[in-house]
Amino acid sequence: MNIAIDGPSGSGKSTIAKRIAKKLGISYLDTGAMYRGIAYFYCNKNIDVSDVNAVKSLLGDIKLDVVNDGGIQKIIINGEDVTPYIRQNHISMAASTVSKIPEVRIKLVELQRIIANSTDSIIDGRDIGSYVLPNATYKFYLTASSDVRANRRCIELKEKGQIFSFEEIKADIEKRDYQDKHRDFAPLVICDDAIVIDSSNLTIDEVENLILKNIKY
Ligand code: C5P
Repeated sequence: MNIAIDGPSGSGKSTIAKRIAKKLGISYLDTGAMYRGIAYFYCNKNIDVSDVNAVKSLLGDIKLDVVNDGGIQKIIINGEDVTPYIRQNHISMAASTVSKIPEVRIKLVELQRIIANSTDSIIDGRDIGSYVLPNATYKFYLTASSDVRANRRCIELKEKGQIFSFEEIKADIEKRDYQDKHRDFAPLVICDDAIVIDSSNLTIDEVENLILKNIKY
C-alpha cells in the first residue's frame, strides 16, 4: 500500500504523514528533503541552481541516499549526512528552483519509486499522486491559505532559531507555489482521484482523523 500526500509548502503534509506512518506502522518518505539535499549540494559549492548546465554537469557526481535512523529520515549525500543543513530558509527556494530541472527530478523519482515499491509507505511531496506513483492506493491533496501556511512556517523557522518576517515568508511561499505549479515537468497539480483537504481551520488531529477515515489498512 502507498499513500500519496501532495500539496504546497506549509500545508502540514510532513507533520501529518509522520503521524500516520507511526499510527499505521508503515514507512514515511519526505521527498521534499531529497530536493533540499540536492539544492544544498550546489549551494554549498556556490553553484547557482538556476544555471541548468552547471547543475546538469555535476548531477552524476551526486550519490543521494535516504536512511531511516531510528524513525528519523536522514539525507546522505556522497556519504555526508546533510540533514542538519537542508531546512535553512534559503535552501527552500533553491530546492524549488533546482526541482524544475527534469534530469534532477528523474534521478530522484527513480529512487522514490524503488523505496515505494519495497515497503508500505506514506510519501509526501508535490508530484507523488500525479507522477511518481499514479497508481498509489490513496491520494490526498493537503492545502491551506497562504496566510496560515506562512504563519506555520514562521513558527517552524523560529523554533530552529531562524527569524524572518511574516511578509517575507509569505512572499517566499507564494513564489515557491507559483514555481512548483508552473514548471513544465511534473508540476504540483490536484489529481482527479485525490481527496482534497483544506487544513486552514483544522487542527492536526482533525486532519489526521479525516485521512485515517479514508484508509483501510
Ligand atoms: O516539501 P518541501 O517544502 O520540503 O520541498 C522543497 C521543494 O522541493 C518544494 O518547494 C518543491 O519545489 C520541491 N519538491 C518537488 N517535488 C516533490 C517534493 C518537493 O518538486 N515531490
